[in-house]
Amino acid sequence: MFNRARLKLTAWYLLIILLISVCFSFVIYQELSNEVDRLARASRLRAQRSFEINPFIPPPPVIDDDVLLEVKHHLILNLLAINGGIIVLSGALGYFLAGRTLRPIQQMLDDQNQFISDASHELRTPLTSLKTALEVNLRDKNLTLNDAKTLIEENIDDVNKLQSLSDSLLKLAQFQKPTQVLNLSDCDLKAIIAKAVKRIEPMAHAKSISLKTSLPPHLFLIADADNLVDLFVILLDNAVKYSPKGKVVLITSTQSDKSVTINVTDQGIGIEPDALPHIFDRFYRSDSARGRSGSGGYGLGLSIAQKIISRHHGSVFVKSQPGQGTTFSVTLPLRHNLHPVKPAIFS
Ligand code: ADP
Repeated sequence: MFNRARLKLTAWYLLIILLISVCFSFVIYQELSNEVDRLARASRLRAQRSFEINPFIPPPPVIDDDVLLEVKHHLILNLLAINGGIIVLSGALGYFLAGRTLRPIQQMLDDQNQFISDASHELRTPLTSLKTALEVNLRDKNLTLNDAKTLIEENIDDVNKLQSLSDSLLKLAQFQKPTQVLNLSDCDLKAIIAKAVKRIEPMAHAKSISLKTSLPPHLFLIADADNLVDLFVILLDNAVKYSPKGKVVLITSTQSDKSVTINVTDQGIGIEPDALPHIFDRFYRSDSARGRSGSGGYGLGLSIAQKIISRHHGSVFVKSQPGQGTTFSVTLPLRHNLHPVKPAIFS
């Protein structure tokens, strides 16, 4: 499909260049042949005058009709050769430019197809297990009311997971739209983090994990408040999800003139060095995370987090020690300083 589109675009480029070149050639031919005709007429006139003034001196040379015709033939041949060269050159150049024009579109299509196939793959597994459980139990003639209730409870769990997956997919798709606009306002970072902590508290409480915040009072950003709450919910959710019971998750900040860095530090399982470069990839889950039953993520959280950070002209830095814990440091520009800060780095 890409090659067909490339050839079509090349043909259009070629047609446009050819039309322009033929028009120019026509104008050039008309102008030059008029000029040659004028010169021929002038030579004849000079010869005639010289003859009238003194018939005994030889007249100046006259451009006769044969020479005129030959010059015009040469002109046509030269213009045809130039046009041929232009066609070959612009064909090659057009093919190259068509490739460059279409490459981002092709890349976007490939990304979209990959996204659809990844999403379908992730959706198929829980849907198949849900369907199998329902079919097996439906065929069971001795199914009691209690069994049915247990089954429904398990199914609701699966449906909740599917719902959270589809919510994450929708969010990711939203952030991938280049046209997505942020609802920017003056935000108090402390209030945003308090909201995120409140959302994660029940989950942290269930694992006896304490969430400790140590932030200065006045940190103002121009940001989309809901997006920033989502960002810190993702980081805190991971910190709690990948920490053993009874640990502490710490939220601190450091500040410079232009930006603020918020650190979310946990005492969890950590991230292996070879997994670190991939944790922001869509659907990526490290082996240690997959091995943990019940942690239940789909590998979409950090992709969404990264998109939120880049939309806010921020950056993220991850520091992790397997078995000891992880720190995610998010740097965001402070009010009136909306410009890129640092690229994402891992250590
Ligand atoms: P998930 O829903 O699987 O948590 P994320 O995109 O949020 O997806 O994270 C991607 C992967 O990064 C996780 O599967 C996990 O391996 C790793 N990860 C993220 N945060 C942490 C953390 N705080 N501690 C350990 N591993 C983490």
